[in-house]
Amino acid sequence: MSRYIWLVLLVLGGCSQNQRTASEATASDSSWSVPGGDSGKTYFSALEKINRTNVKTLGLAWEFDLETGRGQEATPVVVDGVMIVSSNLGRVYAIDAATGSEIWRFVPQVDMQVNRTVCCDQVNRGVAIRDSRVYVASLDAVLYALDFGTGKVLWQADTIDGEDRGQHISGAPEIAGDVVVIGNGGAEFGVRGYVSAYDLETGELRWRFYTVPRDPKLGPQENPELEEALATWGEDARWEMGMGGTVWDAIHYDPEFDAVYIGVGNGGPYHYKKRAPSGGDQLFLSSLVALDPENGRVKWYYQQTPGDSWDYTATQPMVLTNLEVDGETVPVLLHAPKNGFLYLFDRRDGSLLRANPIAYQNWANGIDPETGRPNVREDLVDYIDTPRIVFPATPGTRNWHPASFNPQTGLYYASVSEVGNLMFTFPGYPPYLPKSVTHDAQLVYTSDLLNMLPALPPPIRDAVEQSPELERVKNGKTGGYLRAIDPLTGETRWEVENSSWQDRAGVLSTAGGLVFNGDVTGRLSVYDTESGERLHSIETGTSIIAAPMTFMQDGEQYIAVTAGWGGGGWPYVPKHSAAYRYENRGRLLVFKLGGKSVPMPQERPPLEVATEPPPIPEGTDLANGTALFFQHCTLCHAHSPRTISADLRRMRPEVHAIFDRILLDGVFVGAGMPRWDDVFSKDDVRDIHAYLITEQQKVRASELALQEKGLPLNAEPSRVLSSY
Ligand code: CA
Repeated sequence: MSRYIWLVLLVLGGCSQNQRTASEATASDSSWSVPGGDSGKTYFSALEKINRTNVKTLGLAWEFDLETGRGQEATPVVVDGVMIVSSNLGRVYAIDAATGSEIWRFVPQVDMQVNRTVCCDQVNRGVAIRDSRVYVASLDAVLYALDFGTGKVLWQADTIDGEDRGQHISGAPEIAGDVVVIGNGGAEFGVRGYVSAYDLETGELRWRFYTVPRDPKLGPQENPELEEALATWGEDARWEMGMGGTVWDAIHYDPEFDAVYIGVGNGGPYHYKKRAPSGGDQLFLSSLVALDPENGRVKWYYQQTPGDSWDYTATQPMVLTNLEVDGETVPVLLHAPKNGFLYLFDRRDGSLLRANPIAYQNWANGIDPETGRPNVREDLVDYIDTPRIVFPATPGTRNWHPASFNPQTGLYYASVSEVGNLMFTFPGYPPYLPKSVTHDAQLVYTSDLLNMLPALPPPIRDAVEQSPELERVKNGKTGGYLRAIDPLTGETRWEVENSSWQDRAGVLSTAGGLVFNGDVTGRLSVYDTESGERLHSIETGTSIIAAPMTFMQDGEQYIAVTAGWGGGGWPYVPKHSAAYRYENRGRLLVFKLGGKSVPMPQERPPLEVATEPPPIPEGTDLANGTALFFQHCTLCHAHSPRTISADLRRMRPEVHAIFDRILLDGVFVGAGMPRWDDVFSKDDVRDIHAYLITEQQKVRASELALQEKGLPLNAEPSRVLSSY
């Protein structure tokens, strides 16, 4: 079991003139009644009262307390002067858009045990509104229809399909004709992905589309497309593992072609041979699928990453617009998933028009123009037997952070990360266990790799030192960028470098010639759409990851954004972030011309030396405790100061005293710490406690030494980071 000890270090966790005529969906519309701003989800607004000439006076109009220390990913909407915004757990607030005063709030009763299988914080990415109803999903996967005027529940539907509740919901529902479509997350927890469509008025389930086949021994597949998909899996597929393919973010209805586009997530476990040793493309993992909203049948699909082994979800946001392509105006779908490419599809038939990388990637040697298939570089990136450095890393070149397509410049403005990771598998990794993390690949981000190299076991270190990518790790570009990208070529027209590759946020662009983008240091910055020049920036004191929006009310143009650190990698708080320096309380910030400066949140108190832990109990099996901690607990608990979840190396005596009751009786379930009495025995809990006591002893000793020398206590590098 001692092999787990070193896992502590590893579980890191252009513009053609013709494009100016594009996108009727956006050009005439200055309202913002859906999270993406319009039916194309372009995150573009035709409003121009705030523009290059006056944006320097942009300041705070009002703010609203979102009452949580968790991440904020939602973009608000405004309908009839009422702003509707969702927050963590699926809470919804209705607010007077001009004054910021609350009209009503909806607080779902969430089964907090769901946190056992929530990878990426208790976030929520938005609502859908139609005919005086507000639709939202809670973290525990219940879909609600609320009355627009009062927030009262009109109907609710449990969207989970079986007994093993490994799913959760962070995404926004999407209205498609007379149904509302919702997906879920949980590909890392042994689930089978699907989307469900409910009747808008009654909440009755109308159809469900599974993204991967089921065990053929259970009977025929639910539809003919899945029968065909079955052939891409091979007969040795381990169906009991669910296979993943969750649709946790983008679901996009196209009224022009009456199709619902879904982005399908990664496979679980990560390596395709772990799911089916004989391999195969494994449809519909990592695919874009167009569904008929009437019945959930497949209209067309394109698999972006066949045989996904790198957590390359295709769930990232899409943009629907029209573009001049090869001399013809074409209705297109723009999509930049995790895998590093920006794809352009013809919405008339799903044909692939373009696929260009927008960051360094090494998993594919381009896309074959004849077959449309990527030329996968198995020799470079298949890590099942040999550790490999793979670009991009599992958090992706792009993630959920919405991009903006601006029809006036013809550019796609997006947060892009340049980062890879060392991936390797692990003989003897704990066996598959329902509702536990199923991915069995270990990851080290290239940004940390050189520092961590000496701590890696010799065979893995050797593989890194012989890797053809080592030179890039040493000297290549690593970071987070706001890029203005030509959607036809993938070329960057201008870019702004952020503080790190983890520093990324949603984007708004406007007809005022402006691009709005927040960052984790707490700044909301405004750039010139054409040049990328920073025209203005506002210090808010709260990390921003969500996309801003804009609206007009009583003749005034406002900019609104939610703020709060969290999401993927949420427990770990970057040292350069606002969340490290200030209290990470969620806020909705609304700006106007001539507004005031933003009040800074309370600064966090100085770090204190970890308290003296109790002695290690008699008869403990430290190796067992360590192994269990790394299998089950590192998803949320990072060994790092000022984490959002508790830093368990700093438990106070009163917490040590009830450690067993926290795990076995669930005394903190309400606060988001689930109970584990179905997994851990009393002895297991004692062993985990013993491991944490040893960690607390270590951190206390090192901090006492630092204190003695008069050095800051947070000098040590953060060690654990998980991200999906
Ligand atoms: Ca994933």
